[in-house]
Amino acid sequence: LLAREIAVNLLAAWDSPASWRAFARSAGITAAAIGLAALTGWLLDIDALKSLHPDWVTMKANAAAGFLVSGVALWLKGHEADRMTPLQRHAGQALAGSVALLGLLTLFEYAASIDLGVDQLLFRESLGAIKTLAPGRMAPTSALCFLTLGIALMLDAAKPRGKLATSILATATAFPALVSGLTYLYGIENAYGIGSNAHMALHTVLAFLALAAGTLCLQPEHGIIALLRSRDAGGVIARRLLPAAILLPILIGWLKLSGDRTRLFEPGFGVALVTLTFIIALSLLIAWSARLLSQADAERNRANAVIRENEARLHLLLHSIPDLVWLKDPQGVFLSCNAAFERFAGAREADIVGKTDYDFVDAETADIFRAKDLAALAANSSRSSEEWLTSAEDGRRALLETTKTPLFDSAGKLLGILGIARDITTRHMAEESLRAAQAQSQRLLEEANHSRLALLNALEDQRAAEAEVQKLNAGLEKRVRERTAELEAANGELEAFSYSVSHDLRAPLRAINGFAQLLARRHRDSLNEEGRHHLDNVVTASERMGVLIRDLLHYSRTGRGGVRSVPVPLEPLVRHLGTTFSERIAATGARLEVAEPLATPLGDVTLIGQIITNLLDNALIYRRAGVAPQISISAQRENGKVALRVTDNGIGIAPEYHEKIFQVFQRLHSDEEYPGTGIGLAIVYKAVRMMDGEITVESTPGEGSTFSVRLPAAMEERSAT
Ligand code: ADP
Repeated sequence: LLAREIAVNLLAAWDSPASWRAFARSAGITAAAIGLAALTGWLLDIDALKSLHPDWVTMKANAAAGFLVSGVALWLKGHEADRMTPLQRHAGQALAGSVALLGLLTLFEYAASIDLGVDQLLFRESLGAIKTLAPGRMAPTSALCFLTLGIALMLDAAKPRGKLATSILATATAFPALVSGLTYLYGIENAYGIGSNAHMALHTVLAFLALAAGTLCLQPEHGIIALLRSRDAGGVIARRLLPAAILLPILIGWLKLSGDRTRLFEPGFGVALVTLTFIIALSLLIAWSARLLSQADAERNRANAVIRENEARLHLLLHSIPDLVWLKDPQGVFLSCNAAFERFAGAREADIVGKTDYDFVDAETADIFRAKDLAALAANSSRSSEEWLTSAEDGRRALLETTKTPLFDSAGKLLGILGIARDITTRHMAEESLRAAQAQSQRLLEEANHSRLALLNALEDQRAAEAEVQKLNAGLEKRVRERTAELEAANGELEAFSYSVSHDLRAPLRAINGFAQLLARRHRDSLNEEGRHHLDNVVTASERMGVLIRDLLHYSRTGRGGVRSVPVPLEPLVRHLGTTFSERIAATGARLEVAEPLATPLGDVTLIGQIITNLLDNALIYRRAGVAPQISISAQRENGKVALRVTDNGIGIAPEYHEKIFQVFQRLHSDEEYPGTGIGLAIVYKAVRMMDGEITVESTPGEGSTFSVRLPAAMEERSAT
């Protein structure tokens, strides 16, 4: 876990430019420390600090000062540019400049073979110092290194050219130092020829290498450092090959030298071996890198294929969208569009791209489009609008809802304006018809409301009319009741009057009758024939009148005592009447049949007795000549009533008289034919009505009649069935 964490941290540090700058600062501190140590050696005359080995060349005092100065300069430059104060920056430049000047002056001394006094400015060196041409003078390579390093540190790293120059100069600084370093590694003690210029102290070599590396690290985003940090294939190759490119030749060189020294092989053959080794090593490195690149390439191809597929899909998607989609640059020039747009505009994408709205629509419309583009750009957000346009595809007018959106790339740079337009004609039409339908239904609703109000008014009127009718009805009923009461009163008065009249008529009639009989008895013989005839008429008429008055009185009296409604068992009543009529039955040779059992009606026993009496009387009277009367009495329950029937086989009644015969004094025969007063059935009728009953007659003239009296049935009768 710790290792993992370290690895992660290292990777992060490797990525972070700040850590490279930190490295540059520490390289500066290292060089300055080396320089300071050597100066101390000069100051305190400690040889071990001047040259690390008694046989080796010393680090010259001015070179030591140069390292101190350039180390500080590098340390200053290693700070982030934005955190540096102007003083720091100027100090850095001045220090770097003085280092370059030191190198330049020393080189000039070598070139011109003069002593400018820069060598022993700080300390004097005794004559004959190891590998030193002039006392205290640094090696020409060192001078060159200071010159290149000083310039590299001075250059303005903010400019691209400065960056490149810095990289080159810093790398150039490393080479002479590296050569000197190799002389130590390979144990070359007394190089001659150009090698004699490369006698640097070992710590000088280290200090230059540190400074060169540190200077490179000042700009981690550029040059070799950027390459080493890079995550792409170039970075991988650089990280792999660079250490090999440095270490491998060093190792091969060392092996060659060792071979030479141990006389393992002849020097010329050694070169052959070196060549072969290089061939093999480089071939292996190339194969290794090539494989890596191939792999990376394959991966890239795969990625490209995926990208192409995505692109194709995106293209298909864009072109399948039914909406019109297009992209314009900020100046309004078309960059791209989809198939729907092509169809609507009536042009191919290739012909649209590079043109503006002014190439397709009239200037006025194009102005409107452009204004909307600019509005979206100004608002920095989507803007929608609706407009009627003509489709080039079918010449149809379409309502387009257009949304324009400013489009930015991932870095936030404005790419252009994305336009999306949707044909909303159908929706618009639907909305229109919906609105129309709504208006229509609103109208209908209002009409319905009117009708409802009218209906309500009509109802109101009807209700008023009904109330009026009810009022009238109530009045009418009241009047009917009043009139009925009046009629009943009048009827009662009439009955009372007829009763009193009949009653009062009896006394004078009796007097007339009495006197007429007296006259007939005592003075009959003194009257002539005509007189006697008149007298007989008087007697007969008065007798008849007596009978009439008696019957009338009888009629009037019927029910005067009030009606007592009770169950009336008919059998004892009929038996009693049979006895009463027995003489007349015998005299007429009649046969009376009673169909027992007789049902029991509810009524007044006196009235029912009167009814049966009168009906029996008529049945005996209106018999056919020479035919013995056949009379039957029955009483049956019918529909909750008791139907009392008296049937005879007499002369019968013509249909036209069936109603009339129940009225007072209504007779169908003369007194000579059949005696009577025409009151019997009237009494029957009155009695029946008084008991809430009904009477009807069925009759066939010459065959017989049946009188049916319907009366309420008694309670036990009702429950019996
Ligand atoms: P009256 O018998 O005194 O004439 P009613 O009122 O009893 O008076 O009868 C009225 C008339 O009805 C009679 O004149 C007769 O013509 C007719 N009538 C009544 N009962 C019968 C009957 N059973 N058969 C035929 N006619 C009848």
